[in-house]
Amino acid sequence: MQTRRERIAELLEETEIPLTAQDICTALDIKSRSVVYEDVEHISISVKNRGKHLLIRPASCGKCGYVFSKRKAAKRPSKCPKCRSEWILLPAYLIRERKR
Ligand SMILES: [Zn+2]
Repeated sequence: MQTRRERIAELLEETEIPLTAQDICTALDIKSRSVVYEDVEHISISVKNRGKHLLIRPASCGKCGYVFSKRKAAKRPSKCPKCRSEWILLPAYLIRERKR
């Protein structure tokens, strides 16, 4: 029996395209996105021990294209600091082997 975090990590290793927290919720039938953000934060640390690397496509503004800087957990920001739009594209994640 895999833990939820193991299932998320596996999903992110197998995916071809970066997945958002919403994608992960849908794929694994998880109720809350905030749970996923927390898990992803832990996964980003635990994958390092396995020679892998969590890649984050940062959140961006759907209106002006402003890209949010990579925060620790790459959580969803609520507003664009540039144009004040609340149309925010979610950050997305995938896991790849660390290149030497
Ligand atoms: Zn904007």
